[in-house]
Amino acid sequence: MNKRSREYRITQLVHNRKYLEGYLKSSEDDPDYLDNKLSIVLPFLEYFDKEKLDANKIQLDQILIYSRTLNRKKDETFRLALLDFFVYVTTVARISFETEKLDLSLKELQQELRDEKRDAQVLQVEDVIKIRNVLTAKEHYKLKFTFEMFYVYGITLDEIEQFGSDHYSKHESVFMFTSKSKRKRIRLDESITELIEVHPDLLEAKGRTTYSGYMQDIGSTVKLQDRDKIIWKDIDRTRKEYFPTCSRCKQKYPNSAEFWALIEFEEDTHKKHWIYCKDCADEMRETV
Ligand SMILES: [Zn+2]
Repeated sequence: MNKRSREYRITQLVHNRKYLEGYLKSSEDDPDYLDNKLSIVLPFLEYFDKEKLDANKIQLDQILIYSRTLNRKKDETFRLALLDFFVYVTTVARISFETEKLDLSLKELQQELRDEKRDAQVLQVEDVIKIRNVLTAKEHYKLKFTFEMFYVYGITLDEIEQFGSDHYSKHESVFMFTSKSKRKRIRLDESITELIEVHPDLLEAKGRTTYSGYMQDIGSTVKLQDRDKIIWKDIDRTRKEYFPTCSRCKQKYPNSAEFWALIEFEEDTHKKHWIYCKDCADEMRETV
């Protein structure tokens, strides 16, 4: 990223330009270090600018949710850059939290993220049953929806933030999205479509930080015996290790029968029952 484009990006800020320009002017850091901090503060302010929030209106919780989703390698500079910036903001406006509290919370978050660096642990069938039961019993439908999307379809944060009424066909139960510049369509299974039917607010577009927050909430809501909490990696590893792959579309689905169908081929004199994902099976039957 060159300097000119950064300057341009600063001029595009509607709510936070004056704070950022003031901060840059007041800083006594050497240019390289300041540049480094700018690479953190600018995207941060761009994010909250989109949310139509002035820097002094941003809440501590929102900063922490945002911080969770970022590359963790730059933890230390990240903390110092945000801290520095908010110390500056307090010199020109009132903010809703103490900067010491921000410092402490970011340090705690760093520790928490380090803990998450534990190895992935697969979810056993009993674990998945428990997760679903707990989320249903406590009526955490947003968490349930998020879990199902991650677990059943392996949707990523980049993909799930595209979810919303513009990208969902109720009629076909199909979620349309772009993944690594390819257009994709997945047909959502009944347990998810019913959830959407009952809670239409699931169709309101939400950012990745919201879904990332939901994932954290799943971790803290459902207690499993063998781990302190469920983390993203656990779901990912479960999908990789336990989920069968459809030989026709190469998609992975859970190892429960409702995602699969048996197909017999007329020409197969041995009359084997071949296993395909439901979607492929439907398409194959249509073309027969
Ligand atoms: Zn398939």
